[in-house]
Amino acid sequence: MSAIFDERIRKVAAEPEVQRKVYAATGRLMEHRRHAVTETALPDYQELRAHAHELKKHTLEHLDHYLEQFAASVERNGGRVIFCDTGDEVEDFLIKLAGQRGARLLVKSKSMTSEEIDLNERLERHQLEAVETDLGEFIVQMTGERPYHIVAPAMHLSRYDVADLFTAKLGAPREEVIEEQTMIARRVLREKFLKADIGISGANFLVADSGAVVLVENEGNARLTTSAPRVHVAVAGIEKLIPRAQDLAVFLKLLGRSATGQALTSYSSILSGPRREGELDGPEEFYVVLLDGGRSRLLADADKRQSLFCIRCGACLNHCPVYRKIGGHSFPWVYSGPIGAIITPQFMGPFHEPGLPFASTLCGECAEVCPVKIDIPKILLELRAEVKEAETRAGANRLERLAFQVWAWAMTHPAVYEMGGLMAAAALAGQGGYVKELPGLINIGPVKAWASQRDVPAPAAQSFRDWWRQRRGGRA
Ligand code: SF4
Repeated sequence: MSAIFDERIRKVAAEPEVQRKVYAATGRLMEHRRHAVTETALPDYQELRAHAHELKKHTLEHLDHYLEQFAASVERNGGRVIFCDTGDEVEDFLIKLAGQRGARLLVKSKSMTSEEIDLNERLERHQLEAVETDLGEFIVQMTGERPYHIVAPAMHLSRYDVADLFTAKLGAPREEVIEEQTMIARRVLREKFLKADIGISGANFLVADSGAVVLVENEGNARLTTSAPRVHVAVAGIEKLIPRAQDLAVFLKLLGRSATGQALTSYSSILSGPRREGELDGPEEFYVVLLDGGRSRLLADADKRQSLFCIRCGACLNHCPVYRKIGGHSFPWVYSGPIGAIITPQFMGPFHEPGLPFASTLCGECAEVCPVKIDIPKILLELRAEVKEAETRAGANRLERLAFQVWAWAMTHPAVYEMGGLMAAAALAGQGGYVKELPGLINIGPVKAWASQRDVPAPAAQSFRDWWRQRRGGRA
């Protein structure tokens, strides 16, 4: 684990108030989801999960075909698709477009893909103002932080924190009622929507057969972002493709329920192309920027490819005992919780934060609640092995390897193993229940650190081998 990761975790551990907020918010989301997926509420929930898994698997196995089909569909609808390998290419496209259209102000609706490439910072470097319009994102943009949670970006802040923030940053009278705070944000954002030259959205799904960008939300800001400005640009990862419009029925049933417990979010927008003749609203220009950003590399790995099935519902975060304890800002990249723990090393390399795949209890809850059945614990184990192999190649872990070699040798030599057991029992004798203190000889370094975080059971009065021998009449 890197010092930065360690320090961030310690910081949260020392902030019980933040932990309380995160625990309460994730607890509510868990409860809502639980009610939404019961046998009565959604009888075919497990079938839908299996179907969603198969649909994603199929799409990613034939992604080249669906990307081509999507691009052709968008162009048929009067839009344009831009394929980008990196954040730099996305930046180049947007800066050129903004320059050609004389744009200065851009409104954005929530997009984790644009967070991945620090799009706001990139635009600001070119003197373009980019304003987040999702309420949670609007708040964290003002605090200068990354989203705390995929679905609830300002989960770590209370309404009192927001009251202080709005007064300090917007000059608004102090207002602690959430509905009133929403009205303050709405007044500020309406102005921005009316003046904006370009609207940038993400995409929850991209439908190959119809060239549609699908957005789900509860605030209506995505709808305004994509229809009020003259130009709409959707920035999304290539894995957001699904084959057909009818497949949406499967994913929309799962997404809202898994995220917030809603059967459907308040708004589901299906956007296909610019405004057509006779239509009252919609943008004059419509672009879809498809970002690879390392995804092709993940696609090449048949075992871990399923990491790209994610529909960003946030359920695995809410149910993860580690996320609930250390919060979203302890994680080293934009994606936090179990999905962050498997995606970050694959996008950024195993040494970006080597401790990340180990920041899990492997309880399996994430896989249980994932609506697209990603086997997160299995991928975590594979990533752990990769980190260890990479460290070994780099000459690290010599002591650990030696310790495990000795352990393996002892395990395959019963007499040595038994002798070791007898010695441990003698050294720890008298410490009933759990070991309170390890003998000084081994209570050092990593052993001491390991034992300080765990309850080590005291050895039983009679060893298993002894008991077994007795049972078999003295035979080994
Ligand atoms: S990994 Fe699964 S549970 Fe976690 S955010 Fe993605 S879809 Fe939701």
